[in-house]
Amino acid sequence: MIIIEKYNDSLHNPHWKFQLGPNAYEVKDTPRRVKAIKDRLTQDSRFNLVTAEIFPERCLTGLHPYHDYIRNTAESLADDEEFYPDLFPGDGAGLPRRVDAPLQGGIWCTDAVTPIMKKTYAVAKGSADTALTGAELLASGEEQVVYALCRPSGHHAGPRVFGGYCYFNNVATAANYLLPKGRVAILDLDYHHGNGTQEFFIEHKAVFTASIHGDPVVEYPYFWGYADERGVGQAEGTNHNEPLPQGTTCAQYLEALDRIIDSLRSFAPDFMIIAAGFDTHAKDPIGGFGLQVGDYSRIAARLCDLRLPTLICQEGGYNLDVLGECVHAFLTGFIETKAS
Ligand SMILES: [Zn+2]
Repeated sequence: MIIIEKYNDSLHNPHWKFQLGPNAYEVKDTPRRVKAIKDRLTQDSRFNLVTAEIFPERCLTGLHPYHDYIRNTAESLADDEEFYPDLFPGDGAGLPRRVDAPLQGGIWCTDAVTPIMKKTYAVAKGSADTALTGAELLASGEEQVVYALCRPSGHHAGPRVFGGYCYFNNVATAANYLLPKGRVAILDLDYHHGNGTQEFFIEHKAVFTASIHGDPVVEYPYFWGYADERGVGQAEGTNHNEPLPQGTTCAQYLEALDRIIDSLRSFAPDFMIIAAGFDTHAKDPIGGFGLQVGDYSRIAARLCDLRLPTLICQEGGYNLDVLGECVHAFLTGFIETKAS
């Protein structure tokens, strides 16, 4: 299986100054996450590492109105600066949405935990390029299943605002790239609801979006991820949320997955994109489910049975002791099911 990686994501390594607690830095989005995954996958000769292609900015600009804001702000910073939006005017104020005013980031961003550094734009663009490279391999028919080692994650970045450690929505960008070739299903398996991805396509009937996640009554992103969000207008029925309680076991998880697979089969997509987060592992510091490493192979086997060209994009997963094993189990689930 092909693994796509981009160039040096370690250039985006914030100190997360608003995350409190002694272990905050350790459990957040550190470049060590990518290293842990890569170290594990490269021990297995069935995986080939390739570098992402560079795609034109227009693959991002049409989807992300804050593209220029992130690029301009990054360019304005000194090497060691980290900019955290800290004033959020809210909708309805009728304010201009400026892309050339770094301090007005609160109009483009949902929170104070998604800082911009000098290299953040380059690294986030590289993460989207990683997903686009995978999409191109599927579109050309060269590969049937591809893994894109994206960092930063993308699924909380939406069509209005970015946030939640996410700058550009990698899976939405890949879906948009594939759309001229056919219908796309996006399945989000991160512990947190993929609110950005859902918002991109909530009115789009050619893209099916689904997510299994911690119940937003008690988990981020709180405002979205409920079961009654099913799509709008012509797209009614093309969004499927499965909010699950804390402590969810593999058996409960697989029941939810089977319900989504039924909807997904009815939608009959030509491509599947998986937003693969592993903060569903029982030992994840910010997740609340009870999945174990071997469970990811079982989940993958059911998805592989759909026999769809599939792009798997990395999202969350913050326990560095198990993250590499979780990703390896998930991907080998595809390899072994395909072979059987
Ligand atoms: Zn997550």
